[in-house]
Amino acid sequence: MIPNKCKQCKEEVVWWAIVVNICQMTYKGLLGAMTGSVALVADSLHSGADVIASIVTMLCVKISKRKASDKYPYGFGNIQFISSSIVGIILILGAIYLMYESILKIIEGNIEAPSFLAVLGAGMSVVVNELMYRYQHCVGKENNSPAIIANAWDNRSDALSSVGVLIGILFAVLGFPIADVVAAMVVAILVARIGIELNIDAIDGLMDTSVEMDVLKDVYNIAANVPNIEEVRHLRGRNVGEDIHLDISIGVSGSLKVYESDLIAQALKERIYAEVRHVTDVQIAVVNS
Ligand SMILES: [Zn+2]
Repeated sequence: MIPNKCKQCKEEVVWWAIVVNICQMTYKGLLGAMTGSVALVADSLHSGADVIASIVTMLCVKISKRKASDKYPYGFGNIQFISSSIVGIILILGAIYLMYESILKIIEGNIEAPSFLAVLGAGMSVVVNELMYRYQHCVGKENNSPAIIANAWDNRSDALSSVGVLIGILFAVLGFPIADVVAAMVVAILVARIGIELNIDAIDGLMDTSVEMDVLKDVYNIAANVPNIEEVRHLRGRNVGEDIHLDISIGVSGSLKVYESDLIAQALKERIYAEVRHVTDVQIAVVNS
């Protein structure tokens, strides 16, 4: 069971992500233009890309809740992995743009140091993004939502890149103007890395990688403790978006009748649903040995 409080957070989290990122994009963009900091403008564009990413996430979380249909009999859960992939691609495109702008700036020369106000802007961005990371990571973990966890990691990368921006602007203010542009390039590399990682995770999810070992161990222990189950012959599980689907094969005594075997399988199913979080589908094969 997922606590109600966490479900409530899940409804709200995407809206917070959108509103906070629109605010960040606006104040960093304005401050970057006012102070003449390329790095801060780069950071602002990053926040803008995140707004788009949040909107994509929101749509995908909605679609993933749809009931299974004739065409998609296993439901729409996996669309969350597609959402992660789209967010990743947006980040990679943003990174390429930042890199291009920074290199152009260096080639053109005449780089001026930003004013001190830019330091405060970057500092605030570090704090806000770290707080957003913690909030979203909690909601994503509690709800087992790959899409929300992906967004949380994006906020962690935002916090890190703002640290880079802060350092760059500080050096620029202290008399090394090129540090501001170099910081913008570092932001680009960090953003691209997160984008690539999100795509690797999305591919893993769509390829039905196994659920975590701990989950399988829990299921195995439950099965081993259900009366009359003599052995667990086979056990596997996969993630379908936020849900976990399990296939289990159990051995029972050959002297049991079919309806008795059915009751044992039913008991196992109920215990798994009650005790293992996020499991929404259990297929049990009973073998009489
Ligand atoms: Zn971001």
